[in-house]
Amino acid sequence: MLNIILLGPPGAGKGTQAKRIEQTHGLVQLSTGDMLRAEVKLQSELGVKAKQIMEAGELVPDALVIDIISNRIDQPDCKNGFILDGFPRNVVQAKALDQMLSDKKAPLSKVVEMVVDDAALTQRIVGRYSCEACGAGYHDEFQKPKQAGICDACGADKFTRRKDDNAETVKQRLAVYHEQTAPILPYYADMNLLEKVDGMQPIDAVTDQILGLLKSA
Ligand code: AMP
Repeated sequence: MLNIILLGPPGAGKGTQAKRIEQTHGLVQLSTGDMLRAEVKLQSELGVKAKQIMEAGELVPDALVIDIISNRIDQPDCKNGFILDGFPRNVVQAKALDQMLSDKKAPLSKVVEMVVDDAALTQRIVGRYSCEACGAGYHDEFQKPKQAGICDACGADKFTRRKDDNAETVKQRLAVYHEQTAPILPYYADMNLLEKVDGMQPIDAVTDQILGLLKSA
């Protein structure tokens, strides 16, 4: 069982790398952002609560995400392990996760911090979009589909951009990361779980570095 957290600011590449590790290691990507966006799309009670908060670049209440993650980890597909992407986002969530994993007897294997400069993050986030059908990620400058307007992965021709991927909201999301999420790095360093990866490298090099770290986990 391999239970990993990918930590890093918005746009660091957590989702991209989580999807790759999912394939190589048979683990499940648990992205609270994706789960919340699914609820917003469904216009569920939770989605209605979360929508405005997400569009403002703030964090949704801890109790909501802690509950979602706790239920999701209990699903049978998580028994080989999981990759947390976007959770925990603050110290309260990190402590709740510890308690939850100790109750479930599913200890953390590693916490991987993906380090990227703020200037690069804004550029990455503002240009990104994804295939509406399969979720494959693209970027206006850095990762265009081979054939314009057609998804490389599934051939679909409809793409979508996140509402919170605009310059103004990104500023707020980065501020929230530095104020609330970065303080959990020393928490995991003290537990001897934290490893750093240079997220400015090309995507494949980042994957290789993470896979190398997981070998020793
Ligand atoms: P992400 O897809 O991880 O960038 O998350 C998008 C947005 O969803 C965030 O800006 C928050 O509003 C919300 N969100 C995602 N994960 C969490 C979390 N663990 N705690 C609070 N809010 C979250």
